[in-house]
Amino acid sequence: MNMETGKGRLLRLTLMGGEARVFLCDTTAMAQMARDIHTASNTCSAAMGRMIAATAMMGVNLKSDGDRITATINGGGPAGPMCAVAGPDGKVKITIEHPEVELKLKPDGKLDVGGALGRDGQLTIMRSYGFGEPYLGKVALVSGEVAEDFAMYYLESEQTPTLCALGTLVGEQVIASGGVLIQAMPECSEHLIEQLEIRAELFGSISQLISEMTLEEIVEAAFRGLEPEILESMPLSLTCDCSRPKIEQVILSMGESSIRELIREQNGCEVTCHFCRRHYKFTGAELEALLEEGLKKEGEQDEDR
Ligand SMILES: [Zn+2]
Repeated sequence: MNMETGKGRLLRLTLMGGEARVFLCDTTAMAQMARDIHTASNTCSAAMGRMIAATAMMGVNLKSDGDRITATINGGGPAGPMCAVAGPDGKVKITIEHPEVELKLKPDGKLDVGGALGRDGQLTIMRSYGFGEPYLGKVALVSGEVAEDFAMYYLESEQTPTLCALGTLVGEQVIASGGVLIQAMPECSEHLIEQLEIRAELFGSISQLISEMTLEEIVEAAFRGLEPEILESMPLSLTCDCSRPKIEQVILSMGESSIRELIREQNGCEVTCHFCRRHYKFTGAELEALLEEGLKKEGEQDEDR
């Protein structure tokens, strides 16, 4: 397990010469960091842990540097919506509306992630590219347990039969977290599909495997006889890309009258990033200057037309 703060690792591999492709990741330290940032309950730590793994595996599949996927689960549960953003560089950020929500364990002893997120809603995936319209895909939630919902997304939205297992083992801290995504390519043989179905049970305890073995050892143990070929090992990290200039743009987008109101009524404002909980403070004078600069730029753009 990689316990360096906020770091994780992902393996990309193929089976049987490309009949199936596999993503396998250890995101333990990323889940721990998310738990710390959001002071999350055990149930919400598990929800975020699973989501981090799912979106990391989806994000590394994007083509260009500036591409991003934004995944949102909005199931109407007490924890509120959960949103994660991931890119092809392996960077992930995540937020959940009510990270403190804790539920009783399910009868099988597992954390009730589906109960916290809710099952009555959708998983939305937005793919945004450096330019142009983003692509939006939606599926109705299957269980709110995250893995099944992502598997359904791949099947419905991308017509790709996908086995997705995600797991986060939480004690006092996050003990292990990660996931595996196996996608059958169109040329996939019946033999391989049968073999994967037999082995799917093993992945039911993916977090246990991650707590005990390296990713390479898991490949060895889980895919023996299926010609696993590791194509790449890449680093992952929980990182937020927020910055003061970006927050300034958000403030400007509120419009002049709202900003004037902030200046008049509270002589400034404080903005907290939902993803990393960093605070950005602006005094009344700073807002005044920001507004002036914003208006000036607007004027320049008008002249350009
Ligand atoms: Zn941030």
